[in-house]
Amino acid sequence: MPSRLNRRDFVLTGAAAAALGLAPRAEGAPAVLQNKFRPVVISSANGNKYTHDGQETCVARAFRLMTGGSDVLEALIAGVNIVELDPRDTSVGYGGLPNAEGVVQLDSCCMHGPKKRAGGVAALEGVRTPSRVAHAVLQNTDHHLLVGAGAQRFARQMGFTVEEDLNTETSRRLWLEWKRRLDPEHFLDPEKRAQSGFEAGRSMVRDGLIDPAHYFGTINCDGVNAKGEICGVTTTSGLAWKIPGRVGDSPILGAGLYVDGDVGAAGSTGRGEANLYGLCSYLIVEQLRQGKSPKDAGMEALRRVKANTIEKRLLDPKGTGNPKFGLNFYVVNKAGEFAGVSMYESDYAVCTENGPETRKTESLIPGPEPTW
Ligand code: ASP
Repeated sequence: MPSRLNRRDFVLTGAAAAALGLAPRAEGAPAVLQNKFRPVVISSANGNKYTHDGQETCVARAFRLMTGGSDVLEALIAGVNIVELDPRDTSVGYGGLPNAEGVVQLDSCCMHGPKKRAGGVAALEGVRTPSRVAHAVLQNTDHHLLVGAGAQRFARQMGFTVEEDLNTETSRRLWLEWKRRLDPEHFLDPEKRAQSGFEAGRSMVRDGLIDPAHYFGTINCDGVNAKGEICGVTTTSGLAWKIPGRVGDSPILGAGLYVDGDVGAAGSTGRGEANLYGLCSYLIVEQLRQGKSPKDAGMEALRRVKANTIEKRLLDPKGTGNPKFGLNFYVVNKAGEFAGVSMYESDYAVCTENGPETRKTESLIPGPEPTW
């Protein structure tokens, strides 16, 4: 059984690094000082968690393909396919937690910096790899976003296998448990129903049935190659137990992902509604354009989200005035400088010539997300 590739195995030899046109990267040295464009792939933490055949994670596969000459976006999509197809990640693709009616609805979008093209799908049912359908929208249509039944029909026309149901035994069992915890008498009152649905979900996190990262949960993956070509992709099953038809930030250009081929890329995971309100990925790329570092650009977006969070139901019950949700951004500029930033302490994944790593994000608010 092949063992998972570790960082030491991955670190490029001098010859391989030379083939990529790279000088060995001194720890902490700005990429621009040594090479103009430093290849890097950055993603949410699940991009360095799940492996294909026990070997490569998403960021490692994407980096290998990208530095081997593949189109950057194709390499990133091949990376996120690992997570989409892995039923252990119940926040993405096959086995993602379903909506309130028990139906798995998936969202994804992708952007190609050099080609200046984009594609997305929302509320897509029956296809395990929505990122590939989003890519097909980018490649084969004049449109940027297909939703629901239209997206599914398009996927079928493009030759994708469309399945009846993307639930796994685990996601179905968890949905049934959620239903069981929901007081049916509250279905009569939309406001109370929303609150009781939220409470039922939180109690499942408290009871250890769902990883909080999978209640929300997504993968965003962005990369830049040695030629400075930047692309990105985001894919998700969205918010667990959402109202059928709910679309979060993930498939929305400018929210769940934004790429400007001349500047950089940003993408998100976490509470989609908070990000949608401010189109933060677009905001971050605009901050990069004005010369901010990836970290400072990301922090600016988090500060805006915090300032826009005024409703009591969204605030930390301890009265700190801080949001009670998590939101993360993954940011890379054209030079290959990158940052993972978040509202509360969190992790992200990155792969450079030094191999795949999971790192701590820079958080706006110190400490972990308020307890559920
Ligand atoms: N942002 C996704 C959504 O709101 C979920 C997540 O990333 O946690 O659909």
